Amino acid sequence: MTAPNQNYAKLNDSYLFYNISKKVAAYNSAHPDKHLYRLGIGDVSLPLPEVVIKALHEAVDDQAEKQTFHGYMPECGAPFLRKAIAAHYNKRGIHIEENEVFVSSGASDELGDILDLFDKRNTALIMEPAYPAYVDANIMAGRKIIRLPSGIENGFLPEPPQNTQADIIYICSPNNPTGAVFDREKLQKWVDFANKNGSVIIFDAAYEAFIEDSALPRSIFEIEGARTCAIEICSLSKTAGFTGTRLGYTIIPKELKRHNMSFNDMWVRNRTTKTNGVSYIIQKGAAAVFTPEGEEQIKANIGVYKNNAKMIMNALDKVGIWYTGGKNSPYVWMKVPDNFDSWGFFDYLLNEAGIIGTPGAGFGGCGEGFFRFSAFGDPEDTKEAAKRLTGLVYSD
Ligand code: PLP
Repeated sequence: MTAPNQNYAKLNDSYLFYNISKKVAAYNSAHPDKHLYRLGIGDVSLPLPEVVIKALHEAVDDQAEKQTFHGYMPECGAPFLRKAIAAHYNKRGIHIEENEVFVSSGASDELGDILDLFDKRNTALIMEPAYPAYVDANIMAGRKIIRLPSGIENGFLPEPPQNTQADIIYICSPNNPTGAVFDREKLQKWVDFANKNGSVIIFDAAYEAFIEDSALPRSIFEIEGARTCAIEICSLSKTAGFTGTRLGYTIIPKELKRHNMSFNDMWVRNRTTKTNGVSYIIQKGAAAVFTPEGEEQIKANIGVYKNNAKMIMNALDKVGIWYTGGKNSPYVWMKVPDNFDSWGFFDYLLNEAGIIGTPGAGFGGCGEGFFRFSAFGDPEDTKEAAKRLTGLVYSD
């Protein structure tokens, strides 16, 4: 009889968003006329920038004519898009070559697939609270997971642990769910740690476009030594509203080698075996993001989300609640008042103010006692939710 992958039996039920939707459905059926203020979603609410829509339309038309039609695309990405992405780094003084850029269908896909490059015996170090896919993808692969908790005491930015054999190290900066961002000095410590121990960092830069403080690194390749120890995974989902359109990119430097094997060469081999590339139409739409017009238009959209974050932060400032994130990130991570746990606070906000957020307990053990607000919602709803937040009572 076929033996299934037994590691799947070790996965915890992914109950976070399921539980939220069950609670929201129950609230809706009890209060059908009440409007809900959705600050829980990690999905964008603004449509694609005009410049992207135009490029998508043109690409569809290309597919209608024999002369401009495209069949299979190169597995690692269309040269025009690899070039545009490399230029996006080069412009900021970061040396990335076109053949170090791999176009993907999104960061989630890539975060799972990239694990093909690592031996099953490697350990995976995951800083918690964490985006749940890191843990689950490694459990599915049968890897040992080392959880590194973080908290208020280190600003949710933990330092490398001493005497720990961490082979694959996940860093998400700006972080989902905490919104915390590593500065150069703190990131340098991780790069030095990885180089010293022969570890590989998987740097999730899905929210890099939200960094407004120019002193903060938007790419791990701004850090000395990162080319010999890091892979960067990025996405246009939050940068340019591609959550439903799907496009991401991964950077693997030529210098990244272990046991004389090049991760860049291995990934070329992997992609040419396991994919037939990303759709021509979507890659054309993505290339428009990196034009001057595209950059201006995504900046305007990000500005709307930033303003939402500001409204949430102002409300928390007014009521004197501790939070991190928000400034260089679309997430605001607040400390739950002492008389609640994070699910209790979820219920309180929903029932008293019609506000939906995300309980921190869903992001790993040390997320308990915290709560995530997302700035991706509708601005009018966020404004009203912020007003309602200031009117609530937070202690007995
Ligand atoms: N990484 C982080 C930290 C995320 O929060 C998300 C999505 O919310 C992703 C990756 C996945 O992005 P994509 O839409 O490109 O799959």
